[in-house]
Amino acid sequence: MSDTIDMTRLTLLLNELRLPAIKHAWEAIAKRSDKEGWPAARLIATLAEHELAERDRRRLERHLGEAKLLPGKTLASFDFSAVPMVSKAQVMALCEGDAWLERGANLILIGPPGGGKSHLASAMGLALLEKGWRVLFMRTTDLVQKLQVARRELALEAAIHRLERFDLLILDDIAYVTKDQAETSVLFELISTRYERRSLLITANQPFGEWGRIFPDPAMTLAAVDRLVHHSTIFEMNVESYRRRAALERKRQGPGRPANYATPKNVAHTTTRDNQPEE
Ligand code: ADP
Ligand code: MG
Repeated sequence: MSDTIDMTRLTLLLNELRLPAIKHAWEAIAKRSDKEGWPAARLIATLAEHELAERDRRRLERHLGEAKLLPGKTLASFDFSAVPMVSKAQVMALCEGDAWLERGANLILIGPPGGGKSHLASAMGLALLEKGWRVLFMRTTDLVQKLQVARRELALEAAIHRLERFDLLILDDIAYVTKDQAETSVLFELISTRYERRSLLITANQPFGEWGRIFPDPAMTLAAVDRLVHHSTIFEMNVESYRRRAALERKRQGPGRPANYATPKNVAHTTTRDNQPEE
């Protein structure tokens, strides 16, 4: 087959049509087709499927690259038995994505350090990304810093607009925003802009009552919390630090025993407050 056509021209045509996967693979596929006597329709379909599969793979790779998720944090490696107040079934349902991301609802994870908030947030981000949603994971202070720079350059609106392309923006450790970061209120601008349109996943070491430091004044704190909570699911992850518990368990089991985690013994509350979708 290949000797009866103008190979250089074919390469040019495939370039022009932007079909790089077919360009790379058509010879091998055509050889197999000749050998196995495929009908022409099957050959064409195989080439088209190949291009599409490669396109999906490249898109996923690009989205993974831009998402800045925490490496190695997956749902498979998350031990749900360590946070009995978080329902695995509910997390899995949220990772299907469509229902809450389409209407710009939020997810808020609150609990003391080490309880697995960042792990769970990043793992959910990955699961959603694999379903085709676009996700960005950032430490809140880093994002605020970027937005402050943009604001000084009179480009805050554009910077917030660039974040619109993410179906889910994960703001890790919102309570770590410092006083001087709060004063410029860029975070409030971001929250207001995304309200009811684009989803946020927020992790916090402190319950809402302690959020006074994150925003310039009490009225703005109230307005921000109100917007965040309005359409949101809240997981209260009141467990002891996972690492601390794992270390204690190792000690309890003595040397030479496999590292294992303990079932939480002193869980403060076991409530899942869960402001489910509005009617
Ligand atoms: P937080 O963000 O709440 O402070 P992290 O998500 O950073 O806590 O968790 C601290 C460490 O413990 C991380 O290495 C994380 O992978 C691990 N970890 C926490 N909870 C779990 C869990 N339920 N299953 C598996 N690993 C966990
Ligand atoms: Mg964290």
